[in-house]
Amino acid sequence: MATLDVTVRGAGIFGLSVAWACVRRGARVRVVDPCGVAAGASGGIVGALAPHTPERWNDKKAFQFDSLMMAEEFWAGVEAASGRSPGYGRTGRLQPLADDRARDLALARGQEAARLWQGRALWEVIPARGDWAPLSPTGLLIHDTLSARLHPRQACLALAEALRRSGCDVVEEAPDAGAVVWATGVAGLAALGETAGNGVKGQAALLRLEARDAPQLFADALHVVPHADGTVAIGSTSERVFDDATGTDGQLDDVLARARAACPVLADAPVIACWAGVRPRARSRAPVLGGWPGRAGHFVANGGFKIGFGMAPKVSEVMADLVLEGRDAIPEGFRVTASAA
Ligand SMILES: Cc1cc2nc3c(=O)[nH]c(=O)nc-3n(C[C@H](O)[C@H](O)[C@H](O)COP(=O)(O)OP(=O)(O)OC[C@H]3O[C@@H](n4cnc5c(N)ncnc54)[C@H](O)[C@@H]3O)c2cc1C
Repeated sequence: MATLDVTVRGAGIFGLSVAWACVRRGARVRVVDPCGVAAGASGGIVGALAPHTPERWNDKKAFQFDSLMMAEEFWAGVEAASGRSPGYGRTGRLQPLADDRARDLALARGQEAARLWQGRALWEVIPARGDWAPLSPTGLLIHDTLSARLHPRQACLALAEALRRSGCDVVEEAPDAGAVVWATGVAGLAALGETAGNGVKGQAALLRLEARDAPQLFADALHVVPHADGTVAIGSTSERVFDDATGTDGQLDDVLARARAACPVLADAPVIACWAGVRPRARSRAPVLGGWPGRAGHFVANGGFKIGFGMAPKVSEVMADLVLEGRDAIPEGFRVTASAA
């Protein structure tokens, strides 16, 4: 490849998305990852693109809302360019309501959603009907139409293929050339300094169950995500302390038991795969984006934590703005701070 504009280090969802946004703006880009595509947290199976609650609005919630609204077009573009499906679908989400207080809160949030979500998605309280629903003591559910799903690993493979077809190399080794974007997940947080953040392990399981167009369920703090291929993902554990970053154990059995208890429709569905990975969690719990302090020409895109896939479309745009055009649209709370560097 002739002179490069950008080297992206890390072929997870953040690195691939940033590379894609830069390629679409005409930049010459190379992605480098010694472990290959989706070798880290992004190689998973859950893929809930679910919004924060519509209340107490802040930069992070607004950024996430924009990103979720960008997702459909973003992933349609990736599918068209790659010929591979990322498994995206805006199928919505159902959540149970435990008691009258929860119902009243949900109704209030529905009013807030009408304003904060600008009429582009609904948050409503509906009666529970049919098999595909979590148990709900009130007989009521929250239904939102903003939540979507994709298949994380397939989405990364689709992005990598879209990049290759657009002339961007995705390789295991190469020297820096042009601006360098570090999207190296949990290893990258460690490189930013001890206080930048830490890894939080998650375990998830995949069931064989045909529900491809049904909404995802969120009950007992677990995601139940029907995929387009006739599987349903269940996630996840949240482990600050662990020895084995990629192994699954009895904690996943507990997650499965809780999911089946909360959602009886899962009762007889067989487990066909288990997976574990380590999420990059910044100390702020928000993404960490921007120039690497003290390292001219180097940038950071990290801290996706539990919502990296939902944040990726907008993260990629603000990073491309910054790296290619010097335009800084990064929210204040997302910056790479001097103490973290
Ligand atoms: C169990 C589980 C369930 C999850 N569920 C969801 C969900 O439902 N929805 C959602 O949005 N998010 C979810 N997440 C979070 C999401 O997976 C992460 O936010 C996201 O994958 C982080 O992407 P990343 O690109 O920053 O990091 P990673 O995917 O970890 O990618 C970093 C890459 O950098 C590479 N690398 C490391 N060092 C170097 C180096 N020096 N040079 C080059 N490359 C390097 C690694 O090999 C790796 O491929 C989940 C995570 C887990 C673990």
